[in-house]
This record gives sequence, structure tokens and C-alpha cells, in this order.
Amino acid sequence: GQLPTWEEVEELTALAYAEYRDLDEGEVADYIPALAHASPDWFGVSVAEVHGRIHDVGEARHPFSIQSVSKAFVFALVCEEFGHDVVRERIGANNTGLSFNSVIAIELNEGSPMNPMVNAGAIATTGMLAGISHERQWSRIREGLSAFAGRELEVDAEVYASEMASNQRNQAIAYLLQSYGRLNRDPHETLDVYTRQCSLLVTGHDLAIMGSTLANGGVNPITGERVVSPDTTRDTLSMLAGNGMYERSGEWLFEIGLPAKSGVAGGIVAVSPGKGAVGTFSPRLDRAGNSVRGQRAIAYLSRALGLNLFASS
Ligand code: GLU
Repeated sequence: GQLPTWEEVEELTALAYAEYRDLDEGEVADYIPALAHASPDWFGVSVAEVHGRIHDVGEARHPFSIQSVSKAFVFALVCEEFGHDVVRERIGANNTGLSFNSVIAIELNEGSPMNPMVNAGAIATTGMLAGISHERQWSRIREGLSAFAGRELEVDAEVYASEMASNQRNQAIAYLLQSYGRLNRDPHETLDVYTRQCSLLVTGHDLAIMGSTLANGGVNPITGERVVSPDTTRDTLSMLAGNGMYERSGEWLFEIGLPAKSGVAGGIVAVSPGKGAVGTFSPRLDRAGNSVRGQRAIAYLSRALGLNLFASS
């Protein structure tokens, strides 16, 4: 099927926003101290059609740190570089059933980072990127994610410093991976790059464009630039379907039927291949770390716009 007309998408995006803007379930993340400064009221919804038209409502242009939504796009860059079989073998594709920063998941699986959408797998994925120095690795990630967004992305220095000062659990994960021979590079440097990638500032509008690049076989619909190959977008979207919403991924797929990735600053991107993508921003999170209003707005739009991958019509 096709998306409804431009006017209908415009109206349904506004309705999705209006329906959930007063929902006050969930808590703003505070385990990274700088994230606690976010207002629980911020809410933005953006829908990018695959041919480049965008619908923004509410705080769709409000900047926030991308956090774990970066995992989707860094995985795409690494998948592009190494291919399907290598990422499957070195990282994995199975859900942990445990929280995003679980150390036990690594231990229970003989050192496997499990999948690129949890912290262990994302740190291992970032560490795979080629580059002589970690500065070079970092510039490749920043340039790659900027190409997905179609504009130059910048780090939020306060969020980066705050996470670097409070990321003892991620340090434990990085050293544990190293002890199992699953991290080729220096754990501290790899974690520095990973933390910078999580601190990149984006908006819901940016996430919708980044997602629509995946929906469009790897070509950014706004800039026309080919960012990754169609094989990479296929592999990235299947990884998101299985693992993008943490331990709630199965439930999410059952309810909403779209590959998606969330982050603890409150962003979510959901992708409908060949149709477009939804980017949402609202800092109140459920216990798994997924934005409450964002999930509801995307569920609404998945139904209203006919985005569910598993629906026959
Ligand atoms: N930078 C965050 C961390 O590593 C990202 C977590 C998330 O968004 O899930 O804890």
C-alpha cells in the first residue's frame, strides 16, 4: 500500500501529537545526571515520507542527545564496512531479554556482546570501525550519522562530560568484553567514541530523516546522497525489529509492527520500508527506557497510516 495523501498525513501527525501530549506516565532518565535537566513536558512528532516531504508537530525541532538511537546508524556503518556474515558472527542478532546495560547477559552467553542494540553489542560495534586512531573512528561516525541526517551533527558537551563521569557500568562492560577477546581496541578509547556518539544532538525531525534514509534503501531523500547500500538497510532494519526496543522488542513488534530504536534522552525512530519514518521526542520513559508518549504516538501512526509490516492490506 501507499501512504495517504499529504493533507491526511499532516492531519494524522497532528492528531497523534494531540492525543498523547497530556499523557504523564514515565520518568525522565537521571542515571546520566545531565539528562535529568530535560523537561518532562517536551513532546515532538515528525513524519518523513520516503520521497522527502516532512510533517513536524510540537517540539519536533527541539535538540536532545541521540543516545541509543545512534546504535542503529553506527551499526549500519559497520555493517556496510564488514558485511552481513561478519557482524552476525562478531556481534550477534539475538535479544538478551535483559536491560540495555546488562552485564549478566554477557556472562550468560560466554562473552558474546549479543546484539548491536544493547550497550555491550554497541560498544563492540563501535570498536570494529576501522581507523588508525580513535579520533579517526570518531570522525567517521560523526560524518556517517550526519550523512543520515543530511546536516552536520554536533556533540552536546555537557551530556558527554556528564556521561563520561558516570559511566562506570559501561566501563565494566567494555573491560569484560576485552577479557573475553571481544574488543579489539582499547576499552577506554572505544568507550570515549561510544559516549560521544550517544551525545550527538538531534531533533525528532532529524530522526525522521535518518529513518527515512533507511526506508529509502540507504539514499537520504533530502540530500540525495547514498549513505549505505540496500543490503545494509535490510540488515539494519531486521536488527532493529528484533532488538531496537530493548527487552520490550517482541511486545513492540506485536503491537506496532515496525523496526524501531529508542534512546534514553527520549528519542524514538520507527521505519516503514518504502514508505517513510517517524521520529518522536518525549523524555518520559517506561522502565525499559523507551519514551512513553513516543511509543503511543508511533502506535497511533502505525495504525492510522497503515505502516505495520505484517498487515496484509
Ligand atoms: N549512552 C547511554 C548509555 O550507554 C545510552 C543508553 C540508551 O539510550 O539506551 O547508557
